[in-house]
Amino acid sequence: MSMNSWIDISPTSDFSIYNLPYGIFIRDEKHTPGVAIGDSIVDLNACAKVGLFAHLGFDYSVFDDKVLNGFIACGKDAWSALRAFLTAELTSEGQLYEFREKVVVDRLNAVMCMPIEVGDYTDFYSSIEHATNVGKMFRPDNPLLPNWKHIPVGYHGRSSSIVISGTSLKRPSGQMMPPDAEKPVFGKSKRIDLELEMGFIIGKPTNLGESIAIEQAEEHIFGKVIFNDWSARDIQKWEYVPLGPFLGKNFGSSISPWIVTMEALEPFRCASIKQDPEVLPYLQYQGDKNFDINLEVGLTPQGDEETTIAKSNFKYMYWNMAQQLTHHTVNGCNVNVGDLMASGTISGKEKGSYGSLLELSWGGTEVVQLKNGKTRTFIEDNDTITIRAWCEKDGKRVGFGECNGKILP
Ligand code: MN
Repeated sequence: MSMNSWIDISPTSDFSIYNLPYGIFIRDEKHTPGVAIGDSIVDLNACAKVGLFAHLGFDYSVFDDKVLNGFIACGKDAWSALRAFLTAELTSEGQLYEFREKVVVDRLNAVMCMPIEVGDYTDFYSSIEHATNVGKMFRPDNPLLPNWKHIPVGYHGRSSSIVISGTSLKRPSGQMMPPDAEKPVFGKSKRIDLELEMGFIIGKPTNLGESIAIEQAEEHIFGKVIFNDWSARDIQKWEYVPLGPFLGKNFGSSISPWIVTMEALEPFRCASIKQDPEVLPYLQYQGDKNFDINLEVGLTPQGDEETTIAKSNFKYMYWNMAQQLTHHTVNGCNVNVGDLMASGTISGKEKGSYGSLLELSWGGTEVVQLKNGKTRTFIEDNDTITIRAWCEKDGKRVGFGECNGKILP
């Protein structure tokens, strides 16, 4: 069944009536929670103030907060109640319509902020094509390590440097070992890269000592964002043995401003890749636990046109979110509302679907062609990287908008 809203929504908009993602924007110099719809935002704080949420059964004073953690902590019944209310009110001329001049604002000129206070951040490494490609470059004889098909491999990253889309990052300096050099050097990274990823946000906490069973795992997920795990490959290459990524990663990671809920993504479920060999019982699951989300990466040199450098899909993930979360907590590690778990770079099988320049330029040995005769191996100063993500099925579009960032000298 298709639905129409009294708000004008272009058929190509990421923010259709089926989406209703949550974000934080600035209104009257205040951080304000909102829901995106077409080119507009429904101001949740203003709705709460005029009494629209009084009957929804959760403490709507959470919309006075500067981030969404408080609302997310209200739990799944609150998320569903608000979604159902907004869907009904946006498709009929009721109370929200009556208050529209107070509660509906322009989205296109809105300044967006971090939607959540990120607690802990974990990055997985769950695309088999990406892990194999990187493995081939770093360890030609031994691309996929023996644990990879048994464990959703990940590492604990740093949340302090996660930034909202639109934030520029300075090219990091660090220690590197140039090829054929005898000792390491210090300087600016020459191999800045992007990683095309998606992140999910924890919506239901656990206590220390508890584990999440795989069939309950999705109950703990509030929604998803686009994630760019910026990487300094030369720093990473020198530092990663034996304990993994560190300063080559934590100089910055970007997220998209709108959190698309699991409820909105429900129609886009799909099967995952068949896992062979069979995984251990605690990682075995029933049903479709992956999602068909189109992904695209654009590179825009300063003052030039954007070139699409990669097209991928979230469905290429070997390990799904439920498996990642179950594995993460199998030892009793607790999770909290606002924790962010990223997928790892999402690459497909063909070259044009690789989710990093490391793979697209095959370790810097091949150039990536841009429009107007330009080429790249890695990201140059003042290049902007834009990642887009969207689902489309039966004429319904649910998108994430974009996640962009520029690398400054
Ligand atoms: Mn990563």
